[in-house]
Amino acid sequence: MSGETEDEQWWWCLHCERVNHGKRPDQCPHGDCDGDWLDMWSWDQIRDGEGFGDYPLVPDSSMVYPMYADTCDGMRAAYPATEAVQA
Ligand SMILES: [Zn+2]
Repeated sequence: MSGETEDEQWWWCLHCERVNHGKRPDQCPHGDCDGDWLDMWSWDQIRDGEGFGDYPLVPDSSMVYPMYADTCDGMRAAYPATEAVQA
């Protein structure tokens, strides 16, 4: 029981780098992921993190949003989640 910030919002999972909306989940709602409560980061925190790229205010739960840029142009880029995406 965290007792605070129980408002519904977007959460980003550290394991699968996908998002979900609602109250902070105990387990990642994406079935192929073993992320738990501690792995749920506020979307706002990810949006502003590291200064790379610019993620939308309202993310798409079918997309993967990397925390770090992994390409040489230094920009973060979301890509569609597929069955192959595993934590
Ligand atoms: Zn996850």
